[in-house]
This record gives sequence, C-alpha cells and structure tokens, in this order.
Amino acid sequence: MIGSLGRVRIRHEIEGLNLNDRIVAWIPAYTECAETGCGFDPISRSAKNISCAVCSGTGRTETWGKTYISCRASWTDVGRPRFGGVVTTDILGDATLETRLPHKELMEDLRDKEGAYIDLDGRHLRVMSVDVNRIEGKTNVVARCEIIHEL
Ligand SMILES: [Zn+2]
Repeated sequence: MIGSLGRVRIRHEIEGLNLNDRIVAWIPAYTECAETGCGFDPISRSAKNISCAVCSGTGRTETWGKTYISCRASWTDVGRPRFGGVVTTDILGDATLETRLPHKELMEDLRDKEGAYIDLDGRHLRVMSVDVNRIEGKTNVVARCEIIHEL
C-alpha cells in the first residue's frame, strides 16, 4: 500500500525532468548553386560568381529544418557569475538547457552545424557544448548555450 505522498513521489520520478520550456531547433541544410561557373566559395563565404542570377550571389540555398522539443531552461543573466567568467553587457548571457537523452544527436547538430540555433520565446541560442549528465538517477542531456539574439 503506497500512501498518497509515496504516489506523488513515484509519479515525479517516472516523469523525471519538468520539461516546461518549449524550444524550436532550427538547423539549416545547404545546397550549393549548380550553375556553371558558380557554387559556394568557403573562403569568401559567397558565390564563386557573385553576379549569378540563380543564387543571387550567395552560392548556395538554405533549407531550414524545424524541430520542437521540450526542455528545462535556466538563464544566466548579465552581471551574474557564469561558466568561465562573469556575464558582461557585451554579451547577452548564457542559458543551460536540460532535455532527454534521445535529443542528444539534435543538440550535437545544433552545436556543429553552421548557422543552427534554438529559439526560446524569441531568444536565439547557440549551443556551445553538449554533455550527458546523470542527475537523480536520470540520464539527461545538458546543453550550454550562448544567447546570440534577443527580440
Ligand atoms: Zn549561383
């Protein structure tokens, strides 16, 4: 027989993290311009033919993949101590996102793919590091992020 408090605790353990924050992971895929004499030049980061009409001189087209996931976000605001120093006014601050293990690959893509970012309530975050943590018997993914844009 489990008392009501015991039931509440078990339920909490089954649910694990309180993943109350909904984030949108934006990951671009790039397709190089196929026009003769054009294509993406990684040094200039533009088209090989800058007057190309097909790609408008960008050398490639972007296709954005959008994924919604739940996580728990904690913010480190300006003036607060942070991982590796103190948040200054030059930077917007940091955030730590905790999520479930199946999202590890997505977080690593967000860290590794050029231009990829997270949108959380209008704040754009870039993933700087991804770690796997075991907290209270649960294995979670912890992503440390930098705020790159705020609405
Ligand atoms: Zn082109």
